[in-house]
Amino acid sequence: MRRWNGWGDEATVVELPAQGEAFLAELIGPGQTLADARLEQVLARVPASRLPAHPLICLDAEERVRHARGQSLADWLAMRSGEFGVFPDGVAYPESAAQIRTLLAWAVQHDVILIPYGGGTSVAGHINPQAGSKPVLTLSLKRMSRLIEIDEDSLIASFGPGASGPQVESQLRAHGYTLGHFPQSWELSTLGGWVASRSSGQQSLRYGRIEQLFAGGTLETFAGTLEIPTFPASAAGPDLREMVLGSEGRFGVISEVKVRISRLAAQEDFYAVFMPSWQQALAAIRTLTQARVPLSMLRLSNASETQTQLALAGHPRQIAWLEKYLALRGARAGKCMLTFGVTGCRAQNAVSLKQAKRLLKGFGGVFSGTLLGNKWAENRFRFPYLRHGLWSAGYAVDTLETATDWSNVDNLLNQVEACLRDGLREEGERVHVFSHLSHVYGEGSSIYTTYLFRPGNSYGEALTRWQRLKHAASRTIAEHRGTISHQHGVGRDHAPYLALEKGELGIAALQALSAHFDPDQRLAPGVLLQDAP
Ligand SMILES: Cc1cc2nc3c(=O)[nH]c(=O)nc-3n(C[C@H](O)[C@H](O)[C@H](O)COP(=O)(O)OP(=O)(O)OC[C@H]3O[C@@H](n4cnc5c(N)ncnc54)[C@H](O)[C@@H]3O)c2cc1C
Repeated sequence: MRRWNGWGDEATVVELPAQGEAFLAELIGPGQTLADARLEQVLARVPASRLPAHPLICLDAEERVRHARGQSLADWLAMRSGEFGVFPDGVAYPESAAQIRTLLAWAVQHDVILIPYGGGTSVAGHINPQAGSKPVLTLSLKRMSRLIEIDEDSLIASFGPGASGPQVESQLRAHGYTLGHFPQSWELSTLGGWVASRSSGQQSLRYGRIEQLFAGGTLETFAGTLEIPTFPASAAGPDLREMVLGSEGRFGVISEVKVRISRLAAQEDFYAVFMPSWQQALAAIRTLTQARVPLSMLRLSNASETQTQLALAGHPRQIAWLEKYLALRGARAGKCMLTFGVTGCRAQNAVSLKQAKRLLKGFGGVFSGTLLGNKWAENRFRFPYLRHGLWSAGYAVDTLETATDWSNVDNLLNQVEACLRDGLREEGERVHVFSHLSHVYGEGSSIYTTYLFRPGNSYGEALTRWQRLKHAASRTIAEHRGTISHQHGVGRDHAPYLALEKGELGIAALQALSAHFDPDQRLAPGVLLQDAP
């Protein structure tokens, strides 16, 4: 059963090892635990629904609680404290495009706000209902999760938008194919959500981001149905797929997604290499990417993340041996762990591996084989569960991300880390910060930063600390040539910073599109584009 107040399945528990707890206590002080609310307490606070009855709509209080919040740290604090704020008035579960159209017409008739909902894994406040005079209906696409058809000549598969990562892969693998899209939220996030928020999977180096995988589909809007046919390429004016990608539920409801699929690879392995310093590591992965060595993923942790990962891994004796071995080979304090993957046919993988090894050795890289790399791959969807372990030990954790050109990667990363590290100094609190680069391009890279802090003595204090850190980091990103999001999208949390990136004219054009498809502004108002003052 999915947790109502946290990440993933209730049966999966990932605890913080004792060694990790001691490491954090030394860095930022002993943990501070806060009491969690119980589901019964929250259910007692759910107000009566303002929606009239409809056969496709569920008004049950628990369903409304389970669709009220996403997975940002602010959402986490709301769920844990039981102070949800606003609940949707109901949740609809359409099973077809025709039922989506029925619900859109019904929303107009009853003056209702609609929030399209995929897996609810948003970390930017996309799916949270807002207080207002109009009732809010959350439209969950989870019953539209079927593989509709595969065009095996063209390698195009059509899906319902509500297919989650495991549903997409299991239906494709049964025919020998993969989508190859693995965001860390893969277990719960959906195809429609990936397209609507421009998601990036961990193996984007091989398979591409969702922009490259999304071939076409259907958008149900208040102005009619927009069908986007698939073409391998087209010079027929602006590409309409771009109006759907990143639309974040503002322009319509995606009712079908056509994606480019690949045949399953014969072999896949992940390797870990330790680079002696950050500057050498940075130069190495830039060279590797620009040389177009065909790897399927690359993840470079900075020294702080490398040290944290080794401390939180548990197994202190094995880690001590590894550290000794690395030190003998020249990777000491300041070393950076680089994980990379090779995916494809055996012969091609052997060549890619040889190329990567030779190049990385030239930058002082020390290979540790497949053990750590394959462990990373095996556990990659378990990491989000660690938030529970950290919370129980008295620590709050959040992540943020951006992307910038290579000429600015080091500078931006340092600026973001510095503003977070100093963000709570005035109140005498330390923040532990670390980063990695995991989506690399010829032009530049994404930067993914994690920060941990103590929540303080109350939920109110924890929220204030988070707001201060989040705002400082977002402002730093916007002011230092970073995009406000490389993969998590805009939602409500990043909307105030969007105009800095798109400009006044750009925002006006997006607002005109929104008004065209949704003249009464019923779809997720305030998400992506801020409400008019
Ligand atoms: C632990 C964790 C790890 C994450 N890792 C990654 C990662 O590696 N890469 C990454 O890109 N993101 C990541 N995310 C962020 C999040 O998973 C992505 O933004 C994802 O694409 C959201 O998909 P979803 O189905 O959960 O959408 P939701 O959260 O339900 O919705 C997101 C937005 O899409 C809209 N939407 C959803 N479905 C439709 C539809 N059918 N039609 C129209 N609009 C729709 C919603 O209205 C909303 O605006 C992570 C989040 C968490 C909590």
